[in-house]
Amino acid sequence: MTKKIRTVSILLIVVIIISAAAAVSSVANREVKAVSGVAMEANSVSYVLIRWDRVKRADGYYIYRFNPEAENGKGKYERLGKAEGGDNCRYKIKDIPGASVYDIKVNAYRKYFKKEYESKSAQEVRVYSIPDALQVCAFSGGRGVLSVEWEIAENLAGYEIQYDKSSDFTEPALLDIAHGDTRNISVDGLNPGDTYYVKGRSYLTDKDERIYGEWGNISSTVINKKDLNIGTINPNKPMVAFSFDDGPAFTYDGKNSTEKILDVLEKYNVHATFFMVGDRVNDETKSLLQRELALGCELGNHTYSHKHYGENVTVADISKASERIKKYCGKSPTVFRCPGGKLTADIRNECKKEGMPLAYWSVDTEDWKSKDAKKIYKNVINQAYDGAIILMHDIYPETAEAVEKIVPKLIEKGYQIVTVSEMIEAKTGNPPKPGQQYIDSETINNHTK
Ligand code: ZN
Repeated sequence: MTKKIRTVSILLIVVIIISAAAAVSSVANREVKAVSGVAMEANSVSYVLIRWDRVKRADGYYIYRFNPEAENGKGKYERLGKAEGGDNCRYKIKDIPGASVYDIKVNAYRKYFKKEYESKSAQEVRVYSIPDALQVCAFSGGRGVLSVEWEIAENLAGYEIQYDKSSDFTEPALLDIAHGDTRNISVDGLNPGDTYYVKGRSYLTDKDERIYGEWGNISSTVINKKDLNIGTINPNKPMVAFSFDDGPAFTYDGKNSTEKILDVLEKYNVHATFFMVGDRVNDETKSLLQRELALGCELGNHTYSHKHYGENVTVADISKASERIKKYCGKSPTVFRCPGGKLTADIRNECKKEGMPLAYWSVDTEDWKSKDAKKIYKNVINQAYDGAIILMHDIYPETAEAVEKIVPKLIEKGYQIVTVSEMIEAKTGNPPKPGQQYIDSETINNHTK
């Protein structure tokens, strides 16, 4: 090797070493360590204050929140806010509803040659606002019964309800409801005529610990002396009665529309009256009747075969249907509806004899005509009013599809969804009278033809 070549090689090596060192130092310059010590420093019903440890050489911090709904339900961290300055180690999430829950991560960032470099994410921390004070409403849903209902909110894990005969709650009884979706409860065996005071608080859970909101308003009621059977239905709030005719549905292609409707009623804990055709009740369909009873629904008689219509309905059409229903589920129907809605002296007398009131309707969804879920939905939502009896048929898949949307919408509008008999009891303070035909909660029509 000549001397010249050797000099060039040494020079080259020196240049390589210098540039490598420069590269290493530039990576080191823009790197910033992960944030530690992220914690909830304070919270209230409307804000959460987060703090973390200062990170050396950081120019600021980004706060991320996990959004489980993003990326088609896969979930994703989304930027919630920014704290500028390396010494600025706090962030306040403000003006939020009570019981808001956030899963948070904090990254430090560093600016280097006009670019920002973020630290790798460290721990995820759950923070939350305190639940709001619980607003309760007490009423008496029957003889000796105290009923309480309240407003539920997202993220709540449960409720504590206290009731006492003294407004100072000196010896309160406690109901612990460890289920966030429960919106009412009733206790029985209390002394009719006594006054009870009720208050409650809600909680969310952090690991195994309960985070309570404040005790809310005090609501009071006199315990009913009347032997009603309306459970947790609040007589002072709007309600509609759901009625389904012509079922129970048979199963086609593994699908059963009555079943689907019951799924919805169960999900939202609401009731309906099912006016059934006697000869459709058999070994295949009896489980539907049993489920209806278990869910607190009412069984109705809609004649034995539905072949005789209106004024042609015979006494036997009614009695045979009642026998059939009782044979397959152990319970006789408690209300009657005539196919075509006609009323004759024979029909009235037979219903009276069997102890059944009659139910006509005041909102006709015309589901049998349109078989269109959107139209059925519109008809109900546009025509529903406090005290309405709504007519549907549980044998159509389109009706079942509509019911899935109708129930949450009516609840959102403040309606309770109940059986025909529950509504008459709640609204009039008395059970419906056998042989009497109700058009809605206020209108009676006993004209025979
Ligand atoms: Zn019918």
